[in-house]
Amino acid sequence: MILFKQVADLQAALSTARHEGKTIGFVPTMGALHEGHLSLLELARHQYDITVCSIFVNPTQFNDPKDFEKYPVTTDADIRLLEQAGINMLFLPGVSEIYPSGTTPGHHYDLGELEGLLDGAYRPGHFQGVCQVVHRLLDIVQPNALFLGQKDYQQCLVLKRMVQLENIPVEIIMAPTRREKDGLALSSRNMRLSPEAREKATALYKALQYFGENITVKSIQELRLESSAFLLRNDFEKVDYIEVADAGSLLPVEEITPGLKLVLLTAAFIEGVRLIDNLEWTVAG
Ligand code: AMP
Repeated sequence: MILFKQVADLQAALSTARHEGKTIGFVPTMGALHEGHLSLLELARHQYDITVCSIFVNPTQFNDPKDFEKYPVTTDADIRLLEQAGINMLFLPGVSEIYPSGTTPGHHYDLGELEGLLDGAYRPGHFQGVCQVVHRLLDIVQPNALFLGQKDYQQCLVLKRMVQLENIPVEIIMAPTRREKDGLALSSRNMRLSPEAREKATALYKALQYFGENITVKSIQELRLESSAFLLRNDFEKVDYIEVADAGSLLPVEEITPGLKLVLLTAAFIEGVRLIDNLEWTVAG
């Protein structure tokens, strides 16, 4: 694996590869790699000649500076994992490589209603920061395909919109969420949990399943209240939301009808760590 820290060096190598007719799959990450990241890399590796992974903890997408400071950094272990996984290129830039003119956004992305819903409401500016960094990374890498995890469901929809708005010729591939055996979605943030909280955190997945299983039996408001109470009983200290939305638009659903494609989404804090999860759900009938 070749490690690039400078934009110019990565671009030169990719330009040579493109001239040789090679296709490029791209997996952007913030590091602290786990099986979830590796599943995206594996998909990319099977479908494209060259797989580029980037590791960059993007300061502009953190609305809470403490969350940014505490974000886990495990670069040496990440490099070992990527080498074992047979990845060709790692891009590990510093902030000045990504933002040579500073981090202040020069552009506002018109994300429409997606911007203010769910995570957008609780993390102001977050999705603008995500678009800013992924747009910049796509400009640099110019891949054929961008691999994203469904674990960050709203982020996937936001980035699909950004790519459309900016007319970027890239295919977006959404990969399923990888979970621990007990259902907890793999996340770099799980590393910050004590063993006790790690065990309790599986309540997030259980709450989503309960919500889905009862969606035709109880009212949405009842399910919101019951699921939140369940999380609080399991040592979560704050629930930002546990919600059901239309799987395509993320807009709230009023009526549950057979065949409807939904997504159940939640964000909640345990030991001060904000975890998110979601489940796609088709109403039976
Ligand atoms: P992050 O490093 O958290 O920014 O994630 C980088 C990419 O990996 C994003 O596209 C995430 O959605 C994806 N990802 C994170 N966790 C998982 C998971 N448990 N399963 C699948 N993909 C994931």
